[in-house]
This record gives sequence, structure tokens and C-alpha cells, in this order.
Amino acid sequence: MLSFALTDEQEAYRVELARYARTKLLPAYRDRAASTEFPWDAHKELAALGVLGIGLPEEFGGTGTSPDDPVTLGMITETLAYGDVNVAAAPVQSGLVAAQLGEGGSRAVQERYIPELIAGDAVSGIAVTEPGSGSDAAGMRTVAKPVDGGWLLSGEKIAITHAMCAKTMLIYARHPGSSRSKGISCFLLPMASKGVSVAHMPGMGCLPLGWGSIAMDEVFVPSDHLVGEEGHGFAAAMHHFDFSRSALGLLCLGAARASLDEAARYAQEREAFGQKIGEFQGVSFPLAEHTTYLEAARLLCYRALWARQVDEPHTALAAMSKWWPPQVALDAIQAAMKIHGNLGYSTEFPLQQRYRDVMAYLVADGTSEIQKRIISKDVYRKAQ
Ligand SMILES: Cc1cc2nc3c(=O)[nH]c(=O)nc-3n(C[C@H](O)[C@H](O)[C@H](O)COP(=O)(O)OP(=O)(O)OC[C@H]3O[C@@H](n4cnc5c(N)ncnc54)[C@H](O)[C@@H]3O)c2cc1C
Repeated sequence: MLSFALTDEQEAYRVELARYARTKLLPAYRDRAASTEFPWDAHKELAALGVLGIGLPEEFGGTGTSPDDPVTLGMITETLAYGDVNVAAAPVQSGLVAAQLGEGGSRAVQERYIPELIAGDAVSGIAVTEPGSGSDAAGMRTVAKPVDGGWLLSGEKIAITHAMCAKTMLIYARHPGSSRSKGISCFLLPMASKGVSVAHMPGMGCLPLGWGSIAMDEVFVPSDHLVGEEGHGFAAAMHHFDFSRSALGLLCLGAARASLDEAARYAQEREAFGQKIGEFQGVSFPLAEHTTYLEAARLLCYRALWARQVDEPHTALAAMSKWWPPQVALDAIQAAMKIHGNLGYSTEFPLQQRYRDVMAYLVADGTSEIQKRIISKDVYRKAQ
């Protein structure tokens, strides 16, 4: 029988992080979320809590647990998102980049860049999307031209998380003349390199995450900044998305849980027609229903992470955890907003902010339609 019970150690860590999320992150979430400043103070606190080193090499300050330690990272993401869905995205972002450097980075790159990610002194990001290719990532046009001692990168990436605040960025670019997924490599680009320019992209949410575009005009990257095998960057990226998708599902669900808790408290205080509104089934049943959906969606995400942990196929499970849980979370937040009446719509309350922040995950890391495409391929294959 499957069991997703946390170990005693994981449970103790969850309790510590839950306390931090509720007492430190939650009270200032709305203010942080309304600003375009990256929340460095909170990010440094995550580092102090050990969150940024999960599953990363011990020699660089990480926990040294199995590659990427998916279940623990998922639990962390869900727990922190209760307090701040934007701050909670950091372990997934930093973890994804550091894991790729740990797996395929040169020794020089690992020594120079992994410790600062784990210490929370810097953030990085992953740049795949371009003006002409998003869902169809293999259609990217950014070129890496081989030159003496490295490559020259030219092209543009858009909609990139951390573009405005990252010290480094994983850039996916193709060998001149190659097409589709063949010939795509991954490079670690120091963002201060000559020829790099960034521009902020204003979004409806996720404001502190430095969303923006990155233009590269013949930017030199040295040969030891290649990450993974030359020409095989695409498959490596997809393998990492199989982790991030389930973690992002849990991220959305953590934010939704906070919203339903707020609605449940409000329903037991607010009165209408001479009684607490929570006594009306029109209020209590949505709370019951969305709690049920949240629980089912959580189990799906943990099932996907557990499959990754034990090295079972999990691409379709990860895709399921990326399209359904964010939608379940969004529906739950909307229900919590309605239970709050006019206050749910007010910017004085965090609910509308969560709605806008969580909405991002219907698109970021692959749209719902692309996830369903992945799942349906699996369905057809298994039906043969
Ligand atoms: C908040 C946020 C953060 C992001 N962060 C990053 C980041 O850090 N790095 C990065 O590289 N990218 C990032 N992205 C970009 C994101 O990955 C892309 O927006 C996404 O993959 C969709 O690409 P697109 O926007 O070009 O839409 P398109 O690919 O043009 O799609 C447009 C519409 O067509 C649908 N569609 C396309 N193809 C199909 C198909 N075959 N079947 C059915 N429907 C289809 C899509 O689902 C969508 O509804 C981020 C996006 C957001 C919103």
C-alpha cells in the first residue's frame, strides 16, 4: 500500500516551517506581494532555515540527501506558501538551478555558484521561453555560436522569473543550424556579462519575482559554463520540469489552504440574517467541497514526488499535478473571496493578491493544455 506519511524528521521540520510561515511570512505577505522588490530578507531567512540547500551537495552547504529530495522540497513549498506564495517559490527555483549545476556543471562553476544559492546570497533562474516560442520550447531561436574558449549567445528570452534580480541564469540556446530539440545546450550566464540587457515585464501578480525579458547580443560564455552535455540540454530541462511541476502544484495548494482557513474563521464571525454566515449551507458546503478537492490534489502531487523519489516513471503524474492542483487552488481562493463578501475583493485583504499570484501557475512552467497533452500521450501509450 502507498504511504505518503512524512518521516519524524520531515514532520518536525514541517512544524518549524509552518510556525515560521504563519508568524513571520503571512503578516507581511500582502505588502511584499505588492512590491517589485525581491524579498531578500525573507529569502535569507529561508537560507537560515536550511530550505535552500535541500537535496544539494553537502560540500557546498546542502543537505547531501538524495538528488533533489523531492518529497521534502514539496512539503517545504506547500508549507511556506501558506505564508507567502512568492517567497515559497524560491526553494523550487534555486533548487532547480543548483541541482542542474550539481549534476552537469563544471567543478569551477559548482564551487563558485552553488554555495551562494544555498546561502541565499544570490538567486538564479531558468530561461527557456522566447517571443516566438513558449509551449513549443523546441522552436527556440537563441543561438550559441562556438568561438575560441567558449560560445557567443545571441537572442531574446521573455517572461523569465528572476530576470531582474538574478546574478546568473540558465540559458537554453541552440547550435547554429540545428533544429527542434536537437542541438540545444544549457549555459550558465552571469547576468553582468557584456551584451546582456534586461527589461521588467509588469504582471498581474508575482511582482517580487523580478519577471522580465533578457536580450543577449553576442554575449561570451566560457567553455566551463556549459551545463550538462553539449546538444542535450532539452531533455535535461524536461527532467527537471518533472520535479518542479508537482512542487508548484503544492505551492498553489498551500496558498489556497491559507485562504480557506481565513474564510472559515470569517464565516464563524460574520453575521447575516441574525446568525453566523457559517451556519448557512451556502457557506459551509463550499468550504467542505474545496477542502475535499484540496486534499485530493495534494495527494496527487505527493504521489508524483514520491514516484520521483523512488525512481518510478512520473512525467504524466507531474503533468497532472501541474494542471489540476493550480486550478483547484484558484477555485478555492475564489470561493474564499466570495465568503468574505466585499472584503474579498478589497486590496486590504490578501485573498485577491493570492488569486493573482496563483493564476501565474496556470501558465508558468507549461500551460494546462500542454500538461494535458503530456498526459494524453501517456494514456494512448498505455492503451496499446
Ligand atoms: C508568471 C510567469 C512566470 C514565468 N517564468 C518563466 C521562467 O522563469 N522561464 C521561462 O522560460 N518561462 C517562464 N514563463 C513562460 C511560460 O513558461 C510560458 O508563458 C508558457 O510556456 C506558455 O508559452 P507562451 O506564453 O508563449 O504561450 P503559447 O505557447 O503561445 O500558447 C498560447 C496558448 O495556446 C495554447 N497552446 C499552445 N500549444 C498548444 C497545443 N499543442 N495544444 C493545446 N494548446 C496549445 C497554450 O496552452 C496557450 O493557452 C513564465 C510565465 C509566467 C506567466
